[in-house]
Amino acid sequence: MRLTDMISEVQSTLGIAHDGKAGPETWNAIYNRIVSPKTASLSASAALLPVDARSEKCIATLHSAVQPYARALIERARSVGITIKIISGLRTYDEQNALFAQGRTLPGAIVTNAKGGQSNHNFGIAFDIGIFEGGQYRGESPKYKVVGALGVELGLEWGGNWKTIRDEPHFQLRPEWALAMAEKQMLAALRTRHDAGADFFA
Ligand SMILES: [Zn+2]
Repeated sequence: MRLTDMISEVQSTLGIAHDGKAGPETWNAIYNRIVSPKTASLSASAALLPVDARSEKCIATLHSAVQPYARALIERARSVGITIKIISGLRTYDEQNALFAQGRTLPGAIVTNAKGGQSNHNFGIAFDIGIFEGGQYRGESPKYKVVGALGVELGLEWGGNWKTIRDEPHFQLRPEWALAMAEKQMLAALRTRHDAGADFFA
């Protein structure tokens, strides 16, 4: 189901004006709909059950449209016995430029090919996960593929499906207006919205 359709449907179910612009109440209901049917029967306030502190910190930096997806992914992974945390969310242009400099003009290994404005992280529509086993972070694990499949099921795009640089910890929510766009085209449109102070999902 398309996101705007889901917003309208959820809003009419809730009996609030379905203007297609989701507020917190609508996003909570959407969260409940995205996660397993068992969880979906919980009240909307249960959708606000906190996850671990580190994930919460990252989720808070994400666009409000993306936040319920991040929570749902943690929930879905937990339901199959996999512990994940959201370990990266929004990066400002400056933070992205600093990351780009690493391994080039600054010491360290090259970790990204994206400068400020060239990563979906710069718009709060992307996040990275980490797999944890016994409290330990695992940078490499076959579980990333499992979580990737769960994310795709939720309607997220998964970096593990990328042709050029595969990025298994990476997930992003593509705005509906960008569904038919190539990645570069979408990023250019996101930069325009960013510079205009416009909403990325409107
Ligand atoms: Zn990422």
